[in-house]
Order: sequence, then C-alpha cells, then structure tokens
Amino acid sequence: MTDCIICKIAQGTIPAQKILETDTVVAFMDIAPQAPVHGLVAPKAHIRNVVELAAHSPDLSQELVVAIAEFARQSGISDDGFRVVANTGDDGGQSVDHLHFHVLGGRSMTWPPG
Ligand code: AMP
Repeated sequence: MTDCIICKIAQGTIPAQKILETDTVVAFMDIAPQAPVHGLVAPKAHIRNVVELAAHSPDLSQELVVAIAEFARQSGISDDGFRVVANTGDDGGQSVDHLHFHVLGGRSMTWPPG
C-alpha cells in the first residue's frame, strides 16, 4: 500500500532499525520506544489487523510468532520476560493501520494497561 509506513519500511523506502527480516516478516525498533526494548514485528503484506490475519494462511501467523520469539531472543529479553501487544482498531488504540506486534521488554510491566 503506497501510503503505509510499515509497507514502506518493509520495502526499504523509509529507514528503520531492522532487527530481522524474512520473505514475509520484518522486525524493527519502534521510533518512540515505550520500554528499554521496544520492537515491532509485522507481516510485509498489508494486512490490517489480527482479524484479517486470521483469514490468511496459518503459516504466516506462525512466522510472526517465530519472529517475535527471535526478536526477543536477539534483544536479550527472553529470559526475564516481555510483553506482546497488537493494538487493534479505534478502541484498541491502533494508530498505524498495518498489523504489527509490539514487543516490549527490559523493564517490569504493569497491569491493567491504560
Ligand atoms: P499503534 O499505535 O499500536 O498502531 O503503534 C504504531 C507504532 O508505530 C507506534 O509505537 C509508533 O511509535 C510506531 N512508529 C510510527 N512510525 C514509525 C517509524 N517510522 N519507525 C518505527 N516505528 C514507528
């Protein structure tokens, strides 16, 4: 999609600190980190949210989960723990309309979320 930040990062037309990349998935650091480690893991295809993801091949869901785990491992947060968040739609607080999983770690998280 031409006007989508994550599509542009996936295509390499705007810069990002990419941590890992496969044919289908990309992980990069969030530009406004909310924790010492804050990455975004996204499909390269313009899938809007987890509802749309559910209509795709289960392979893609698995690839995203593998990328989340690999991002956490490479970032050194696997052992102490981390949080994975997919804000979805208006009530979910989604501001970028391309599915992405926030991976947050490096500090203790609180609950409930705001
Ligand atoms: P959400 O509000 O859940 O849709 O999350 C969107 C996230 O994208 C926010 O955490 C932003 O800080 C992040 N973001 C926006 N633009 C960029 C960018 N160019 N590079 C990296 N992260 C970005």
